Amino acid sequence: ERVSFEPFFMSLTVSQLLDDAHRRLQAVSDSARLDSELLLARVLQRSRTWLHTWPEKPMTPAQQQAFATLLQRRLQGEPVAHILGEQDFWSLSLQISAATLIPRPDTERLVELALERIPPQANWSIADLGTGSGAIALALASECPAAQVLATDRDAAALAVAQHNAERLGLTNVRFVLADWLAALAPDSRFDLIASNPPYVCEADPHLAQGDVRFEPHHALAAGADGLAAIRTLVTQAPGHIRPGGWLLLEHGYDQGEAVRHLLHDAGFTEVADFIDYGGNPRVAVG
Ligand code: GLN
Repeated sequence: ERVSFEPFFMSLTVSQLLDDAHRRLQAVSDSARLDSELLLARVLQRSRTWLHTWPEKPMTPAQQQAFATLLQRRLQGEPVAHILGEQDFWSLSLQISAATLIPRPDTERLVELALERIPPQANWSIADLGTGSGAIALALASECPAAQVLATDRDAAALAVAQHNAERLGLTNVRFVLADWLAALAPDSRFDLIASNPPYVCEADPHLAQGDVRFEPHHALAAGADGLAAIRTLVTQAPGHIRPGGWLLLEHGYDQGEAVRHLLHDAGFTEVADFIDYGGNPRVAVG
């Protein structure tokens, strides 16, 4: 017996599918077009460039069905990075999971600021604390092959993701240690540069109950009543582990710049400065 659905199947093109998905995703996403393209590219196992090159290409029923399934997940709020299992960061494609924060472009600003301070070819000792998927550690390790990078996280599942990413990317100059900030490190270990994108959102921030962040680990986002709990710990612990003249770089909330600069000054840091992200908000404190 043959079930024939062909005559009733309306074959849509790449651009028709994208336009429809774009329109529907605007209800849940502020990057609806990009999301649509990333999901369709995944279904077709093609690049986004391919989609732009072949907008009139008709899709098969199976392709349309597979796309509808992914689109449905996105419409229910799941982040694209979770649906795809990966997220681009810096020049790297990183695998991610629900155990890790989804790397954000703002954190690339921190990577830029770190690279401005690391002399070319230097065999610096660098630490990325609370590495999550490994974003900062792996970006710095790939840009600075002579550097030795230590990546820590207190969550074993996150650390496994970071380690897996290093292996996939063939980055051999990164070590991974299960640790709560600097607590597990030898008292005499010293770094030339310590970087971190710690949790910094206020526990009661209503944004934590909205949008993509609902799918991310709470402990990677929220840090006490004022959002500064993790940053306070880092600023307190870091000085004992930075060589004289070394650097600490911390990502922070758009309204925490002044507070973080104060903390750095109080802990004895000099050359304290704050830098804005691509959206024009204060985002990275350096000392
Ligand atoms: N910038 C992120 C957000 O607001 C928070 C990241 C973090 O806490 N490190 O979603």
